[in-house]
Amino acid sequence: MSTTSRIAHFTTPSFVPRAPFDDPGADVILRSSDGIDFHVYRVVLSLASPFFKEMFTLPQPPSEPDVPTIPMAESAVVLDRTLRFWYPGAEPIAMPTLDELRDNFEYLIARYDMQFIVPFAKRQLRAHVQEHPVAVFAISCRYEWKDLAREAAKRSLSVPIRDVCDSPRPPHLNDITADTFHSLLLYHSQCARVATVPTSTLEWINRSDETPGANCTVGGGHSCPHDDRIWNYANAPGRPLVAWFAGHLKRLNATLANSPLARLDSPEVLTLAVKQMAACPFCKTNGFERLAKFTVALQAKIDRDIDSVELELNF
Ligand SMILES: [Zn+2]
Repeated sequence: MSTTSRIAHFTTPSFVPRAPFDDPGADVILRSSDGIDFHVYRVVLSLASPFFKEMFTLPQPPSEPDVPTIPMAESAVVLDRTLRFWYPGAEPIAMPTLDELRDNFEYLIARYDMQFIVPFAKRQLRAHVQEHPVAVFAISCRYEWKDLAREAAKRSLSVPIRDVCDSPRPPHLNDITADTFHSLLLYHSQCARVATVPTSTLEWINRSDETPGANCTVGGGHSCPHDDRIWNYANAPGRPLVAWFAGHLKRLNATLANSPLARLDSPEVLTLAVKQMAACPFCKTNGFERLAKFTVALQAKIDRDIDSVELELNF
């Protein structure tokens, strides 16, 4: 995969480098592709990058001026942004976008081999994992950051990434191979299989007086109808279930099939169950508290079970 063809270049004829890149005491000049000079110290570049270290160890021709100029492939805007990412004393650009980060990594890590920035780079990238989990996964795989790739993959379980028809294409997918993307989809699918089990059976939880709808005495076709199916609990096989709770489990099941770590306590998820529960004189007195308690137990069960699913990364 080409690493340079993806990088954006800008023309900035009026760009004026700010401190510390205007230091007249600096001993080397980096000249951007659009002709702007950045004054820097070669010892700093040498410590940061094996690329520059090797360059400065080469014998210099006698005609070389005291302050040599190194032509750079990057534009002034890009050079300023990438230098500010790590150069001592430089004020960094606040909150770089995902695209800017990706470009920074490509210049600093892939091109100039600045491995020391990796911990900071990962922290910056992690700030985008909530909003762009698949993109963060892809970029992490590009640099073989397994820990962040796994974190991003887990975060992707909160969104229906397998629903490719109705979802926008995640950025930076071309950073990974089809094989790696398949691993992510397989993980997502296996987690969905695991996450939907506790809403299709209640055999993982004991039935008690705290169970939603338990001991509702208004059933039997009156104001609190019951589900057609008989449900098994861990300690109580063959029990009926009030219809509003059974319906809630079915809707949760459908949600979890697409998004295995969807939030189960959001108003969108709970509203219909609460409305239906309120129609029953018995369930409405305690149903919400019982449902909230059940939701906490269900979420914990799903979290535990998903932790047993392995994401295969071939790097
Ligand atoms: Zn009821």
